[in-house]
Amino acid sequence: MTSALAAGLGAHVLPTYPRADVCFVEGDGVWLVDTDGRRYLDFLAGIAVVGLGHRHPAVTAAAHAQLDRLWHVSNLFWTQPMAELADRLSARLGGGQAFFCNSGAEAIEAALKYARKATGKTGIVALEGSFHGRTLGALSATGQPAKHVGFGPLVPDVRFAKLNDAESLAAAGADGNVACVLIEPVQGEGGINSATPAFLESAAALAHGHDGLLVFDEVQCGVGRTGTFFAHEQLGVRPDAVTLAKGLANGLPIGALLVSDEAAGGFQPGDHASTFGGNPVTCAAACAVLDALDDDLLAHVRALGARLAAGLAALPGALETRGLGLLAGCELDRPAGPVVAACLERGLVIGTAGERVLRLTPPLVATEEDVDLALATLAEVLR
Ligand SMILES: *Cc1c(COP(=O)(O)O)cnc(C)c1O
Repeated sequence: MTSALAAGLGAHVLPTYPRADVCFVEGDGVWLVDTDGRRYLDFLAGIAVVGLGHRHPAVTAAAHAQLDRLWHVSNLFWTQPMAELADRLSARLGGGQAFFCNSGAEAIEAALKYARKATGKTGIVALEGSFHGRTLGALSATGQPAKHVGFGPLVPDVRFAKLNDAESLAAAGADGNVACVLIEPVQGEGGINSATPAFLESAAALAHGHDGLLVFDEVQCGVGRTGTFFAHEQLGVRPDAVTLAKGLANGLPIGALLVSDEAAGGFQPGDHASTFGGNPVTCAAACAVLDALDDDLLAHVRALGARLAAGLAALPGALETRGLGLLAGCELDRPAGPVVAACLERGLVIGTAGERVLRLTPPLVATEEDVDLALATLAEVLR
C-alpha cells in the first residue's frame, strides 16, 4: 500500500492517535477502499459506530433529505427530527426523556451533571477498567489510571469498584454519598468484559438504597450492538438513565442521555445545553437507524455473534472469548497489536481492547460469509 505518511498526509494534525498508515476514501456496506483502490473487510466499523454498514441506503437517504431542507436552528426552537428521535428512544426504553449532544463523552457529562442535580449528592461510583470518554468529567469516571496521568486534578468524589464484585461495590458507596452508580453493561475499551445480572442488581440496590441513580453507559454496547437495542435488556436490570452515542446515527456525530420516566425532573431549563445537540441532519439519520433496527436484524446480530464467538474460540492462540452479540473480544496468548497490523495487511480491519485482546465490532448487517472470511484471515495470521 502507498504510505499516507510518506505522502505528507497529517503533518499538521496533533498526534493524539497511533494511526495506521492507511487512508480510506470510500465505504460500501462492510467494505472500505483506500487511496490505492484496495478493498478491506471492515470488522471494526469505526469502533462500533457504523452498525448498518457504510452508506446504508435508508440512513443516507434520510440524511440527504434533511440536508436539503434544514441544517440547524439552535435549541431555542423545535425541529421534527430531534423530537421524533426522542419519541423513538423513549419507546425503546419503555418511557423516558432524551437530551442530545454530539459524542459519548458529552453524553456522560450530561449524565454526571444530571445525577448530581437530581440527587443533590456528589459521589460517583464507577468501575475499574471502565471507559467513559476523555473530557475531564468522563475521564475522572474512567477507571484506567494510565489515562489520568498529566491531567489532574480530576473531578472529585469518584470512587472505583471492581466489576462483578458486589462487596467492592458496596464499599465504594458505603458513605451514602451516591449521586450515581455508572456502569457499562459490557465494558468496551476495558477489554470486552460483561457485567453479570447479579452484579447489576447489586448496583441497582446500592444506587437506590442511597437515593442515587443507576446509570448505564451504553455508548458502545447499545443501539443493537449486542443483539438487543439496549444491552441491559439481556441482563435483566433497567437503569434510571442510559447514555448512547457511537452507533446511534451510523457515523454522524451524536450522543444522547436518556432518563427514564421514573427518574425524570432532574433538569430545569438552563441546567444543561449543547449548541449542536439535536442537529436535524444527525437526528434524521438516527431515526432511520432506529427504524432499520427491527427484531429480524437484532435476531441476526445474536445468531451472527454466536458464530463469531465460536470461530474466535477455535483460533490458534485464543485464550478466552468474551462479549455479547457483535461486540466481541478475544484474549490472546500474545500482544494483539501486531495481529491487528497483520490483518490490516491482509485486508481485514479489526481493533484491540487492551494489550492482548482483539476487538471485533463488525457492521450488524455483516453476513455469515463475511464472518467466515474474517475468521479465515485471523486463522492465517495466528497460525
Ligand atoms: C467510546 C466510548 C465513550 C466516549 O465516546 P466519545 O464519542 O469518544 O466521546 C464513552 N463510553 C463508552 C462506553 C465508549 O465506548
